[in-house]
Amino acid sequence: MNAQLKNIVIVGGGTAGWMAAATFAKLLARDYAIRLIESEEIGTVGVGEATVPHLKLFNKVLEIDEIDFVKKVQGTFKLGIEFVDWARIGDRYIHGFGTIGHDYGLLPFHQYWIKAFKAGKAVDIGEYSLCTAAAPRGKFMASATDVPPTSPLANIAYAYHFDAGRYAAYLRAYAEQRGVRRTEGKITQVVQRPDDGFVDAVVLQSGERIAGDLFIDCSGFRGLLIEQTLHAGYEDWSHWLPCDRALAVPCENVGPPTPFVRCTARSAGWQWRIPLQHRTGNGYVYSSRHISDDEAAATLLNNLDGRALGEPRMLKFTPGQRRKPWDKNVVSVGLASGFLEPLESTSIYLIQSAIARLMSLFPHGDFSPTLIERYNTQAAFEIERIRDFIILHYCATERADSSFWNHVRTMQLPAELEANIRLFRDSGRFYRNAEEMFAVTSWVQVMIGQRIMPESYHPAVDLIADKELDELVGGVRRVIATCVDAMPRHEQFIARYCAADKM
Ligand SMILES: Cc1cc2nc3c(=O)[nH]c(=O)nc-3n(C[C@H](O)[C@H](O)[C@H](O)COP(=O)(O)OP(=O)(O)OC[C@H]3O[C@@H](n4cnc5c(N)ncnc54)[C@H](O)[C@@H]3O)c2cc1C
Repeated sequence: MNAQLKNIVIVGGGTAGWMAAATFAKLLARDYAIRLIESEEIGTVGVGEATVPHLKLFNKVLEIDEIDFVKKVQGTFKLGIEFVDWARIGDRYIHGFGTIGHDYGLLPFHQYWIKAFKAGKAVDIGEYSLCTAAAPRGKFMASATDVPPTSPLANIAYAYHFDAGRYAAYLRAYAEQRGVRRTEGKITQVVQRPDDGFVDAVVLQSGERIAGDLFIDCSGFRGLLIEQTLHAGYEDWSHWLPCDRALAVPCENVGPPTPFVRCTARSAGWQWRIPLQHRTGNGYVYSSRHISDDEAAATLLNNLDGRALGEPRMLKFTPGQRRKPWDKNVVSVGLASGFLEPLESTSIYLIQSAIARLMSLFPHGDFSPTLIERYNTQAAFEIERIRDFIILHYCATERADSSFWNHVRTMQLPAELEANIRLFRDSGRFYRNAEEMFAVTSWVQVMIGQRIMPESYHPAVDLIADKELDELVGGVRRVIATCVDAMPRHEQFIARYCAADKM
């Protein structure tokens, strides 16, 4: 008989800790005792305010009401990310969520677009995708229920921007109401079993000892259990992703919130702008080898929409992954398990995905090494594919105006990314690898946005007559334009359905 596992201890109350606690509260609280320990003295990173559409699934599993959620976290809606100055200074493109046109015959729409564009018969690829076309026009709505199921308005892909502190508080209330026991206090000692090194208990500064069978390490970059105690190891990716610091500062809103994040390339990294209902979040993610902290702070403060609401706060990190995110009876989630810079808002997604993976590979008390190995293999696959997607934004550039851009433009790439770029440049083809997070449409938009224009296209495109091609491409554009026209403005949608209470 397998040993039973009864007590789950979550170490850390940032976004990762409370997302784990909320999920366990919903799915496990009847059969397991769940405790969460957090230290106000240590605090959380307090950033992480842009998400990807997968979070809607997380909310659905937890049966979170979207309107209530958006109101309480000062949320706005996100249709994609606008990249400014990446391949060349002056460039601007949107990586939007959702589809581009629709598949036709055996091929994805972008294959037909390549031929039409090269013949001067098509416009920018963004005009063929609902989210990408609606975002810069400030339009937003949730999926409509009163349109035919084939209408682009019937299935709109979107995510949220939210206040990270309020999000953790929202999930905390959810988890505590459903039986998660929270303890405030600083862990000063981790006790391991002498025979096998499994974690037995954590001891707080107060002297309280909290024992557990399964520990979820959500302690942030420090990795209190997974690294400081178990020494699971860390694979450093800074040779591909040189940014290792961020300065973050909120500012006052100026004008209505945009339904997208803006990421503007700077001389040694990039700056984010995330609009919320009550303020705008900003940050400069940079490489400390290529710019001083003072210069980065000045760049950030000189490029805000409105008045800064405080001093910039610095965060230091090493991009990379934990070699064994699950080791013995410790599963690391969130920053404790690795970090990729927030260019494509993937960290909260990685938390969600780690929790889902743990649910699917949930152990008995004997912690089968086979389960652990499968978990770690899947986690590595997922983060490595996202890593390559992020590197693509840097390496596919023509910028030569700073040592930072010269470095990323000429660095040696991961072999699979290099092969993917070659394939796309050759004939616009990209094949999603198994369950990797970003879909073909994401890769296509970023490749083209970064000026990797395919030299050719799939030969089957030539099997349709020119007239049919014109009708396909022209038809999609007309439908998207009509849909975007029919959408309300983002701020109107928020005011009507989910305006936060005035503070
Ligand atoms: C600059 C930057 C921008 C980001 N932007 C985005 C974004 O736009 N989108 C996105 O998806 N992600 C983003 N992220 C990532 C996101 O912020 C994190 O994934 C998320 O906040 C999860 O953090 P965490 O809970 O793992 O760690 P933390 O927030 O650091 O929480 C750690 C917790 O552990 C506790 N703790 C630590 N040590 C002890 C101890 N000894 N005793 C008791 N408690 C302890 C702390 O008190 C805290 O509660 C960003 C990250 C950075 C650095």
